[in-house]
Amino acid sequence: MKIEINRAACEGHGLCEQTAPDVYALDEEGYAYVRVPEIPAGLQPSAEAGARVCPVAALQVHR
Ligand code: SF4
Repeated sequence: MKIEINRAACEGHGLCEQTAPDVYALDEEGYAYVRVPEIPAGLQPSAEAGARVCPVAALQVHR
C-alpha cells in the first residue's frame, strides 16, 4: 500500500498526523508527508484511518 498526498489540496490541519502519527507527519512548511514510502501491513489500518479523516481528501490510498 502507498499513500499519495495532494500537497496542493493539503491545508495542514494535521488530522492525519493526530490520527496516525506512525504514518503521517507535517513538514516544516506545515504540509503532510508520509513517513514510510511503502506502508507495512501492520500500519495499513492506521494509514487508512488517517486518510479518511482528511477534511479535504488530500490523501489517496493505493493498493
Ligand atoms: S489531514 Fe489532510 S489537510 Fe490536514 S494535514 Fe493531513 S493531508 Fe493535510
